[in-house]
Amino acid sequence: MKTTAVKAFGTEAAEAPLNQMDINRREPTPHDVEIEILFCGVCHSDLHTAKSEWGPSMYPCVPGHEIVGKVVNVGGHVSKFKVGDTVGIGCMVDSCRECQYCKEGLEQYCEPGMTGTYNSPDKHIPGSPTFGGYSESIVVDENYVLRIPENMDLAAAAPLLCAGITTYSPLHHWNVGPGKKVGVVGIGGLGHMGIKIAKAMGAHVVAFTTSESKFAEAKRLGADEVVLSKDEEQMKAFSGQLHFILDAVSAEHDINAYLNLLRVDGSLALVGAPEHPLPVAAFSLITGRKSFAGSMIGGIAETQEMLDFCGEHNITADIEMIDIQKINEAYERLLKGDVKYRFVIDMASLKAN
Ligand code: NAP
Ligand code: ZN
Ligand code: ZN
Repeated sequence: MKTTAVKAFGTEAAEAPLNQMDINRREPTPHDVEIEILFCGVCHSDLHTAKSEWGPSMYPCVPGHEIVGKVVNVGGHVSKFKVGDTVGIGCMVDSCRECQYCKEGLEQYCEPGMTGTYNSPDKHIPGSPTFGGYSESIVVDENYVLRIPENMDLAAAAPLLCAGITTYSPLHHWNVGPGKKVGVVGIGGLGHMGIKIAKAMGAHVVAFTTSESKFAEAKRLGADEVVLSKDEEQMKAFSGQLHFILDAVSAEHDINAYLNLLRVDGSLALVGAPEHPLPVAAFSLITGRKSFAGSMIGGIAETQEMLDFCGEHNITADIEMIDIQKINEAYERLLKGDVKYRFVIDMASLKAN
């Protein structure tokens, strides 16, 4: 396989900071699209993976799965994209395409396993992990490439590729819409998208935050009501009130406090993926026939559906743009919940170096 060296930012070990490095990208095969990366969002999963918080990662690790860029080259059999198109890449770049889930458009639950945009074995370059969007360019099979609606600001669109689909998919699956009271817990990158999307779906949205500074702003994002989750009285007022809760918290927290807010037959879906297990009391579930569930990103067709939905409703992320040289600082701030609401890397800063 012919490869080309491109500039990237990544880390060699769980304890090491991210630094500039060269990585190899394959030359486009007949079904591939080569993309010049313009912007890449910074997801908390990038941090969990770079630091091996979910088990040992593959190193070197180049994170980034909220990618927006321009097509600069296409393989001979590519039919969906042409040079100059504005496109996106999310959390996966391939899957088996044959299992029942791939056939149903649930590629994220592919039985042999999807190929992650980073930290997966690269089928094309044996022995190498896949490398994500903290880089100048990426080469991806056209079937895993998304189209960005024309009315979107490209930097603010990048976070839709993970934070957008990860919240849209469960909200859609659990039939969130008019007449439903929905809680969104943790107003970070995912949570702030969850508020915007649930509101656009027509639900009554209640935001739960630990941050006083986000309390007033959650309404601007679209929440009908906001709860400071540290305040027991405020929490009690919602006891047994919610049809569905989307939990997007990245760290340990008390799940039972939220299960208590569900109505009979209500569901709480975790999208947040904390490093350690979360204890659930039997009585939090059995007293109201409640469901405790989880959800991972979304399929390719559903991701396009989400992008088109956000285009129609003028939804993008609230972002803070950074140069790639500031990525280690951004990770430290992410750990403190100090971002409103998504860091996006301007990839021109990598090219300039
Ligand atoms: P983020 O921007 O860091 O947001 C996480 C939010 O959780 C924070 O803003 C904060 O909200 C809240 N939080 C943080 N620490 C907390 C604590 N100790 N107690 C209570 N609340 C706390 O992260 P993100 O990028 O949105 O990602 C959130 C989680 O989802 C991560 O674990 C990530 O890996 C995971 N994820 C999962 C999927 C999936 O497919 N399921 C996809 C992407 C990401 P407040 O300030 O409002 O309290
Ligand atoms: Zn992500
Ligand atoms: Zn499959």
